[in-house]
Amino acid sequence: MSQKYFQLSAEGINKSFDGFQAIRDLNFYLEEGELRTVIGPNGAGKTTFLDLITGRTRPDTGTIEFEGRHDLGSLSEHEIYRLGIGRKFQTPTVYTDHTVSENLLLSLAGNRGVLASLFFRLSSTQSDKIAEILNLINLAPHRDRKAGTLAHGQKQWLEIGMLLAQDAKLLLVDEPAAGMTDEETAKTGDLLLSLAGKHTIIVIEHDMVFVRQISTGRKVTVLHQGSVLCEGPVDSVQSDPKVIEVYLGRKHAR
Ligand code: ADP
Ligand code: MG
Repeated sequence: MSQKYFQLSAEGINKSFDGFQAIRDLNFYLEEGELRTVIGPNGAGKTTFLDLITGRTRPDTGTIEFEGRHDLGSLSEHEIYRLGIGRKFQTPTVYTDHTVSENLLLSLAGNRGVLASLFFRLSSTQSDKIAEILNLINLAPHRDRKAGTLAHGQKQWLEIGMLLAQDAKLLLVDEPAAGMTDEETAKTGDLLLSLAGKHTIIVIEHDMVFVRQISTGRKVTVLHQGSVLCEGPVDSVQSDPKVIEVYLGRKHAR
């Protein structure tokens, strides 16, 4: 009998900072193409978990395996990025003085350096890819605008587009809806839903309206004190007394 294949498996992870245990005996398994939402109160260890996946911090114990053959705990941040693991931070980190298309081009061109990338000749496949990403992220009409002039939500979409341009297989998205209007949030949900399946995605989020939008029929993981408190469909997670206790607050219990 074959064992189930997970694109990402984290087992027995512990991580302390100056004696404070941010991640505690964490086990987490993700299938290829999954869109998984991770929720949990502030300080639960959500961002630290992403830091451990991307090599920004190292686990004290445990292993994080990608595609069954890469031990992320022993690779550098750059090596992990090259495996196709891309991260979107909460604050957008786009090149504000470059246009939207140039930002995508820079990501697509990888490590050529800014000038070389801007003068780099695009193959027709590459320009098709940029056009496709511009459509996906709703920025086709803004392709020639400087990224610094975009609205907050548009910058976030551009950054997601940059992950697509760099061919990330696993997208790590930390609180994308923070600071967005309701309309931007809903569009972000549509975007992530359209990427699921083709990419594997971990989304950390607080906004439960957004969580419900992207999690229908999918698994949600609740982190608490560095461990998985519970995991399952959004409805059962939201009505789980343990979750209500630690996270959602009694006002949400009916
Ligand atoms: P979340 O994203 O769920 O709100 P974090 O992962 O950011 O939680 O933080 C979990 C805990 O670990 C917090 O108490 C935080 O202060 C601590 N922590 C995270 N990163 C570091 C670090 N680099 N140095 C010291 N403490 C840290
Ligand atoms: Mg966080």
